[in-house]
Amino acid sequence: MRFLRFSAILISMIAAGPLRAAEPASLVLKNANVITLDEKRPAASAVAVRGETIVYVGDDAGAQAFLGPKTEVLDLAGKTVIPGFNDVHVHALPGGLFYLEPNLWGKSCEEIVAVVAEEVKKARPGEIITANSWDYPTCPNPHRKLLDPVSRQNPVVLTQFSGHACWVNSAMLKKLGYTAKTQDPEGGKIDRDPEGTPTGILRDKAAFPAQARALLLVKKEKREAALEEALRLFRENGITSVQDNTWDPRTLALLRQLQKEGRLTCRFTCWSYAGYSIGPQLMKLGRYDDPWIRPGPWKLYADGAFSTRTGWMTEAYAGEPDNFGLPMMTPARLAAFYLKAAKQKKQIAMHAIGDRAAHEVLNAVEKSAARYPQARQLRHRIEHAQIMLPEDIPRLARLGVVAAIQPFAASQPQKDLDILGPERARIAYPYRSLQDAGVPIALGSDLPAEVDFQPLLNIYYAVTRKNKAGDQGPLNPRECLTVEQALRAYTLGSAYAEFMEDKKGSIEVGKLADFAVLSADPLSVEPAAIKDVQVEITIVGGQVVSRQQ
Ligand SMILES: [Zn+2]
Repeated sequence: MRFLRFSAILISMIAAGPLRAAEPASLVLKNANVITLDEKRPAASAVAVRGETIVYVGDDAGAQAFLGPKTEVLDLAGKTVIPGFNDVHVHALPGGLFYLEPNLWGKSCEEIVAVVAEEVKKARPGEIITANSWDYPTCPNPHRKLLDPVSRQNPVVLTQFSGHACWVNSAMLKKLGYTAKTQDPEGGKIDRDPEGTPTGILRDKAAFPAQARALLLVKKEKREAALEEALRLFRENGITSVQDNTWDPRTLALLRQLQKEGRLTCRFTCWSYAGYSIGPQLMKLGRYDDPWIRPGPWKLYADGAFSTRTGWMTEAYAGEPDNFGLPMMTPARLAAFYLKAAKQKKQIAMHAIGDRAAHEVLNAVEKSAARYPQARQLRHRIEHAQIMLPEDIPRLARLGVVAAIQPFAASQPQKDLDILGPERARIAYPYRSLQDAGVPIALGSDLPAEVDFQPLLNIYYAVTRKNKAGDQGPLNPRECLTVEQALRAYTLGSAYAEFMEDKKGSIEVGKLADFAVLSADPLSVEPAAIKDVQVEITIVGGQVVSRQQ
């Protein structure tokens, strides 16, 4: 039998000359340094693709068999090819808007007012003005009274750098119905003057309505422009998949439209907010479940953020002995959500920044797993996981919980020292501890809540834990990931977080042909130089979607 099969191959080789594949490839990459992230074959020089799928990984000689008259061949002259990046946590539409609207990062309060005045001049009366990324170090005393003189007719929503606070003017306060009599919502805070009048600073759940309103008021053309901007940012940075806080069914419809028109250049896994927006109903119809647009987990919030001092902590913030942050849900409510998820076999992506938040989330997952053992297979995710009680880290591994982390967060050591104090700043962002404990980790950006979404820059942060200039940090070098760990987490790790590791995350026969071609090999350059590695070509589903050389 074995002899027969062998002779059949031999005969076909003699008959056809060099061995030919049954059907030629549509795309062949050759003369490349392919980092496959496939343990069975870590390195290769050629990849052949038919349609959307990888059909060959190996050396250049072997790829010859896949050439046909219509095969597009890219000779990469030794350049590095990696699996396309998969950003585990983005807000695509706000991300696009973020880059279209003014960025206030590093500006003083006076400069910010001047920017708003300019925007008002360009806008129609009543039109909403949005901008982002102001922060306290450069604008320490934001107040509606500064904005009002330049924006009487236009509501203004300026999102603070973390995304967890807004600075609004009186016109916006009026739209929201916030007055001296308004109670703080649970999990939110309306900052007030001594006499009780809102100052215009809204935190967490008090800020959400302002942000939601701002998004709702965005006109259709602007939404389209924003989504297209986000797609451009993704493809120019080698991001071939994103896991998106979609929430709004209008965005889903827009994605679908772009897909039909052949303009969708990134795969989307779309999350619904808390499981009760109409997004999941739409998704249940199955219309959106393909490798381009897929339904994702429920997104929920357990707490706030460090920079607004609202992450839920076991110990108080530095210099504020009574401030332990803001829980957004009681432990009982958390437990109820995880029970519901276990019953419905649904994954939860839970925003948890502080150690107390993570602790309570793990308690809730544990309770659900005690009743429904399958809860451990749901790959519940803790989004951000910025600080954790050391004893909680192995619990993630035990409960099958994924840590979905954003290395940009670890890039501002001075800020952490101010907010957390030296002891806790040193144990924050426990990336290596998570990795070593066997916790599945996945990397991403939280675009636009964190400023830098570029994967290679984030890998630099994960590996060095320094700031961008390289002159601060690391506070705790033991928590640095290796380049390979970070690369794996940004590809295979993210694919695992969305149950797509059989289709994405490594360069293997049968997987989707999503790649990034890089100017240098991140595994061999100096760690400090990783952030300077350029994405030259991005390929999604076997199609070149971006080329920048
Ligand atoms: Zn987010």
